[in-house]
Amino acid sequence: MSYVVMDMEWNQAMSAQSAVFNKLPIHLRGEIIQIGAVKLTEDLKPGEEFQIDVKPVYFKKMHYKVEKLTGFDKDRLEHGVGFVEALKAFREFCGDGCTFLTWGCDDKSIMEQNIIIHDQDWDWIDRWVNLQVIYNLQTQAGRNQTGLAIAMEHFGIEQTRVAHDALGDAYNTALICSKLDLEEGLKQYETASKTLSTSKAGGETEDTHSKTKALEHRAFTGYPTREDAFDDKELTAPLCPECGERLKASRWINQGDRRYMSLCSCKAHGNYLVRIKLRPAEDDTMTANRIIYKADEEMEEFYKSKAHPAKRRRSRKKKRLIVPREKARQ
Ligand SMILES: [Zn+2]
Repeated sequence: MSYVVMDMEWNQAMSAQSAVFNKLPIHLRGEIIQIGAVKLTEDLKPGEEFQIDVKPVYFKKMHYKVEKLTGFDKDRLEHGVGFVEALKAFREFCGDGCTFLTWGCDDKSIMEQNIIIHDQDWDWIDRWVNLQVIYNLQTQAGRNQTGLAIAMEHFGIEQTRVAHDALGDAYNTALICSKLDLEEGLKQYETASKTLSTSKAGGETEDTHSKTKALEHRAFTGYPTREDAFDDKELTAPLCPECGERLKASRWINQGDRRYMSLCSCKAHGNYLVRIKLRPAEDDTMTANRIIYKADEEMEEFYKSKAHPAKRRRSRKKKRLIVPREKARQ
């Protein structure tokens, strides 16, 4: 099992009323502008490092608070690479089968939102551990969320890197890891993570339960073919995460690269966006990774836009036809 300690910086919309929100397929709380990561060595010490700047496409104007915190300005944003390319580089750095360690649970939800909005693979990045939970267990810090700086102080770790820089924070978090009994902490993690208070330290009001929080990650194995996978009702008609009734699935949209998406509904609890990624296993069967999200209006629209692309094409054509006529009049 390999561990990657990671941290990200993200930009926000100027305000919740920003026009950009109307164009987004899902709620995007933060758009990633930097990914920093440190691999842990076998004796769980900081090892190989990774950092990449990402150029945002939705929140292109630097939010003044983020600029103040990270020192990122317009110029620096311009020089980042696109998210898809950055994620690919990050995946290459991480390799397969790794567990992601973060300070807090925001990074996980922000990463999921960014992956969905760019229609990328998520199944390689589904094992996350919030180190605050293990820190609290082992330092009697209680149930509140402790800031990174406080935890560093607790262990007498000196700040030698830039704070609020993704790699700097990831490195400092990796140092905290080396002070914790990580193996013991991971054993207790499942139970302990349920008791962590969701209120943020320092009076911040950010919503940690983002709208795109995944309700369920699950793997199904041993399908001889793709068709067998889709014949399996357990996979393609999941149970409602809230009441356990079987959901009614709408058409599965093939998104390419063995990724599929459907909108599944429960009479009592509304719609869920369900995504499936098939992957060939070593024994020549197929494995299916399934992820379920509570669908809000934005997600429903997103699904519909993918389910009926023909309609969109027609309306675009119409617009194109209008243009030359207007030009001709001039
Ligand atoms: Zn239900």
